[in-house]
Amino acid sequence: PIEKQATPLPAPKKEPSQPAVFIPVDRLPEIQEARLKLPVLAEEQVIMEAVKENMCTVLCGETGSGKTTQVPQFLYEAGYASGDGIIGITEPRRVAAVSMSQRVAKEMNLSTRVVSYQIRYEGNVTSDTKIKFMTDGVLLKEIQKDFLLQKYNVIIIDEAHERSVYTDILIGLLSRIVPLRNKKGRPMKLLVMSATLRIEDFTENRKLFPVPPPVIKVDARQFPVTVHFNKRTPMEDYAGEAFRKTCKIHRMLPPGGILVFLTGQAEVHSVCRRLRKAFPFRPNHMEAETEEKDSAEEMRQFKKAKQKKTVSLPRIDLDNYSAMPVDEGDEDRQAGIGDEEEGSDLDLELGDDPGDSEEKTDPSLPLYVLPLYSLLAPEQQAKVFRPPPAGTRLCVVATNVAETSLTIPGIKYVVDCGRVKKRFYDRITGVSSFKVTWTSQASANQRAGRAGRTEPGHCYRLYSSAVFGDFEEFSEAEITRRPVDDLVLQMKDLNIEKVVNFPFPTPPSMEALVAAEQLLVSLGALEEPPRSGRLKEMERARLSCPITPLGRAMASFPVAPRFAKMLALGKQQDCLPYVITVVAAMTVREIFEELDRPAGSEEENSKVAKRRARLAQMRRLWAGQGASLQLGDLMVMLGAVGACEYAGCTPKFCEENGLRYKAMLEIRRLRGQLTTAVNAICPEAGLFLDSKMTPPTESQVRCLRQIVLAGLGDHLARRVQAEELLDPKWRNGYKTPLLDDPVFIHPSSALFKTLPEFVVYQEVTETTKMYMRGVSAVECDWIPQLLPQYCHFGKPLETPPPRFCPETGRVKCHCDSTFFRVGWKLPAVEM
Ligand code: ADP
Ligand code: MG
Repeated sequence: PIEKQATPLPAPKKEPSQPAVFIPVDRLPEIQEARLKLPVLAEEQVIMEAVKENMCTVLCGETGSGKTTQVPQFLYEAGYASGDGIIGITEPRRVAAVSMSQRVAKEMNLSTRVVSYQIRYEGNVTSDTKIKFMTDGVLLKEIQKDFLLQKYNVIIIDEAHERSVYTDILIGLLSRIVPLRNKKGRPMKLLVMSATLRIEDFTENRKLFPVPPPVIKVDARQFPVTVHFNKRTPMEDYAGEAFRKTCKIHRMLPPGGILVFLTGQAEVHSVCRRLRKAFPFRPNHMEAETEEKDSAEEMRQFKKAKQKKTVSLPRIDLDNYSAMPVDEGDEDRQAGIGDEEEGSDLDLELGDDPGDSEEKTDPSLPLYVLPLYSLLAPEQQAKVFRPPPAGTRLCVVATNVAETSLTIPGIKYVVDCGRVKKRFYDRITGVSSFKVTWTSQASANQRAGRAGRTEPGHCYRLYSSAVFGDFEEFSEAEITRRPVDDLVLQMKDLNIEKVVNFPFPTPPSMEALVAAEQLLVSLGALEEPPRSGRLKEMERARLSCPITPLGRAMASFPVAPRFAKMLALGKQQDCLPYVITVVAAMTVREIFEELDRPAGSEEENSKVAKRRARLAQMRRLWAGQGASLQLGDLMVMLGAVGACEYAGCTPKFCEENGLRYKAMLEIRRLRGQLTTAVNAICPEAGLFLDSKMTPPTESQVRCLRQIVLAGLGDHLARRVQAEELLDPKWRNGYKTPLLDDPVFIHPSSALFKTLPEFVVYQEVTETTKMYMRGVSAVECDWIPQLLPQYCHFGKPLETPPPRFCPETGRVKCHCDSTFFRVGWKLPAVEM
């Protein structure tokens, strides 16, 4: 139940150091005027009183009502940043942290030294900072350093409705930190802000807040939005449909900005390009060209990605390790809901004739087209807030970012494709993929709401009302949909041993928690639970394994645990620069031009064949011979990056040698960030980003192979031997513990001809067969030593060659386990 007025908690004791000061802010008159129109201003009194009286407060208000930009200012004026503490505000998206800090600084007429932001490895926080915007991941890291967050007087958790994993965890942690701070006589306030009213997971969760926090609702002056459903629901070409609908709106309807919701970066660029072509507008052209170069490349990737299903390790996300960028990945359309004849007919004003406007150029109707997605450069993003050039209509083609994080002024028409791109995980295999699926009713209504901010508006839904009726009511919290190994590791590092008991707003499934603990135990990040005792005790122990020193080292790296382990082990034999490069390269998708392209005419065929031969030759060169060849595809990556950097990383070099220029630039950026991270964690490593690496020595390659095995151990595969070959489909196939079917080394792999007995792989991609990518050969002696958790140990004569046990997926080793147990710490962690 939502209450307009705050209900104070039963017995909030007088809180000692609450400021009664008023800090004046010198705002420009036009800013002041615009502020007064924001609905949240009317509630200032109520909000400030609730904050004063309560430890935790929840604030709900329609997107655009002014929560993010105004509430920090209220708190500042009330003196919450005037003493020895500051105001902290977290955002699940990097974009929002940066752009909102700049906006608030401007509104308050203060320098960015005072209103600052911090995202991973980047920020402008100074000793003068009073209001600090940050990503939720950054605050989580700060809790690791100072559990009581002494620096802050108030923490605002913004966009709580997004239910990002880190936001959820922060609320759980803060529900404990805030009372502790009160007990210690230095009270702290928590304010949770949400765009939707579905906040029961926070307010009705007694494990989280034993006393329900007061809920303040901001009534937004929302103008009516007329919703028009499509009669048909396009299953495939919804981007084309969005383009056509936008053309019609622009041709036929009165002035007012248009906001188009699509699912990903590639789609956004493609629709922008078509719209610019249809309604050319000069100054726009220049931008269009530079963006187009990028997007042509993206489109190629996108088309290619559409043809296959990829399964892979979780990507690391260094900039904002809180929110995984959902703007990339594979597209796999969901189909199945039939076309409907039903729905609102108000749509008819736009007619329903297909595609006549398609690609027809009409320069008399200039349209100012801007893309908006989370990975877009900040300068590009800022454009959407400025008024469009005179005589043009604004059209923003956006992904989900425009749904609640950023409010674009002047939008009157919304075109909603009804889909969203989400990452899906296979619980059993741990395999992940991106899929476009229907959004939720709550999201669709949020999108529609964007049209009624300044005057009555219209929302065109590219699906029928019946389809809408089948949408789930709300999107599930992210934490229930993804593996939680990285979270569990972070929490253990905070000494939260029994993660099951943590006050999650929505707890992850027991299955996911068990899987995470198992992976972390097998990586050596957590202590192994006892294998004896009563079943119940064993069960309990399995869910409360304490963290190891290696685990602590791993937790300090901003990457997925498997990669973190490689980094934590990388210090020996000066391997760190190579490990950093390999991790960066594994994180960037498709660094090589595809070799097996479909051919055309005979002449073309021979050209393609020549090119293929040349690129294959380059890869052989990079893979090297002997020892280095054993590192396989990871050596090829290392060689490619090394050669490319040596040549100055030019587009020409990349083109000639079959490397994707953008991928190489991305790898360079990631290497820089990881180097910074490693230096911050272990200064004595004293790394500097030497782009020109010398090739690793033989012993370094050996060390690298062991490090890779230690990190990717659960992606171990063993070649099926001739004598075990029962079914011809297993010829040259590999057995993995998780998959029933054989997997194969990809023909483009450096190890395609070698077929080592044991390999580790980065990912499995399914095309004509299940192919392993990023393959590296492993010596079977290393397995018991580096992965004892994956082994069954037997007496020497009992089990001849090491192989997977069919029931458990573990490797049966013919050696004495006690010998290897002691030897586990081969790569010493000296951090
Ligand atoms: P909420 O957090 O409730 O969604 P915001 O505080 O983000 O609302 O937005 C309040 C208003 O400030 C909106 O009208 C929005 O358009 C405006 N605004 C936000 N950022 C900028 C900016 N960078 N430039 C101009 N206006 C902005
Ligand atoms: Mg906001």
